[in-house]
Amino acid sequence: MTGGPRIGVLALQGDVREHVRALEDSGAHARPVGSAAELDSVEALVIPGGESTTMSLLAVRDGLLEPLRAARTAGMPMYGSCAGMIMLADRVLDARPDQQTIGGLDVTVRRNAFGRQVDSFEADIEVDGIGDEAFPAVFIRAPWVEAVGESVRVLARVDLADGADTIVAVAQGPLLATSFHPELTGDLRIHEMFIGIVRQYS
Ligand code: GLN
Repeated sequence: MTGGPRIGVLALQGDVREHVRALEDSGAHARPVGSAAELDSVEALVIPGGESTTMSLLAVRDGLLEPLRAARTAGMPMYGSCAGMIMLADRVLDARPDQQTIGGLDVTVRRNAFGRQVDSFEADIEVDGIGDEAFPAVFIRAPWVEAVGESVRVLARVDLADGADTIVAVAQGPLLATSFHPELTGDLRIHEMFIGIVRQYS
């Protein structure tokens, strides 16, 4: 499709192909990004789910962490899903001591927060900005957001067993993050929302 934004999917580790497909289906030109040169060729970046400790190690090993931080600081729109949310967070609880992030999102996230009993689950949740119909959110060893800074917009929460709830989707300027995996559901509304952010900020 002509006119769609060029959006990369960080291809160090994780479910890259699913995001490429969801972005293409949403009208973007999507491609994997595994080097600084490839990062230069896109307007925006999706950071997929996977394992944030491994992703952080590979980003350092491949010399990509600093280019990613520089792109983010320069205002590149970025969307992080699950491990990608951790990569965008300014503060990570239960991180490995040497775990690095790109940062920029003024949130505190907790890795593997939902615990062993509910390692993976699905929940229909309301997400601000995508219409009234509930979103089928898939959580896989997901982080949650424990604290947000003033400029962060909370987009979604999920109920916990004890009657409380926790934050699972946030936005801050050109940054978007979800604890869950929209690329696995066939529901394109989160990717479409990100494309809207990309159009707004580029
Ligand atoms: N638990 C993983 C981490 O801490 C994230 C899981 C996922 O991305 N599905 O990086």
